[in-house]
Amino acid sequence: MPARININGVITEAGEAKIPVLDHGLLFGDSVYETLRTYQGKPFLFSRHFARLEHSAQGIDLRLPWSKPETLAQIRQTLIPGECRIRLMITRGVGEVSADAETCTDPSVIIIVVPLTAPPEHIYNEGVEVVISSVRRSARFADIKTGSLIHQVLALREAKARGAFEAILLTADDKLSDGITSNIYLVRDGTLLTPSHDAGIVGGITRRVVLDLAKEMGIPVSEGLFGVGDIDGADEMFLTSTTREVVPIARVDGRPIGGGHPGPVTKRLLQAYRSAVQRLITED
Ligand code: PLP
Repeated sequence: MPARININGVITEAGEAKIPVLDHGLLFGDSVYETLRTYQGKPFLFSRHFARLEHSAQGIDLRLPWSKPETLAQIRQTLIPGECRIRLMITRGVGEVSADAETCTDPSVIIIVVPLTAPPEHIYNEGVEVVISSVRRSARFADIKTGSLIHQVLALREAKARGAFEAILLTADDKLSDGITSNIYLVRDGTLLTPSHDAGIVGGITRRVVLDLAKEMGIPVSEGLFGVGDIDGADEMFLTSTTREVVPIARVDGRPIGGGHPGPVTKRLLQAYRSAVQRLITED
């Protein structure tokens, strides 16, 4: 896969990109990251992603070495032709083989750009299978996107082994949280229900857009704490993320949601989201 990598301002092909083995990002997952995408070759909602990156960095007391304009300029220089998926990472940098972050002096910036692989259109027409993961969401760092992603890795392994597109993670007290890398929603009697921040979710950039659209469209929204039992009463379900937009959920653990097909509210929100992209593309 053609990829371009930017490490601290030096842009290379993927095969030539190298980081020191003593980088604490590698040794301890001591890093923060964002996943962005382009539309029409332009990084989408960059300011919102950068604000979340700042929040994550603050959460682990990590200094961001580049300003927002410099980060955007570096991302633009790293882009490849066609639509891109962009991973922006800031690692703690090189230190001793000890979890002591004070041994690291300079954080490193890594920008990885690969071609965007959007889900095939049929999943939007048919919906996807998701499972309830045996992996739990830990509330402590839930809304901080760090490079310590072993829970996500194991949850995705399990989901794939069960033939699922995504998995829903529960909190320690059995509340629905979010997907492995997505936010989740239920529709019941015309109301959009979605786990609140108290459920240990990542505040998705796509989630914010979708909730704003729902309000504009007069769809009542309720953010709160929901259990697995609420899935049984759902007429529709869907998930959202930057790279996947609004994906209908047809089945959870093999049980159909509603009629087992994308429902009307989900379809309206998907359409509204795709239209909103054209408007939001001008936002930096
Ligand atoms: N929830 C989790 C745990 C995530 O990792 C992500 C994205 O990676 C999301 C939700 C969706 O966020 P966004 O809409 O900003 O892509």
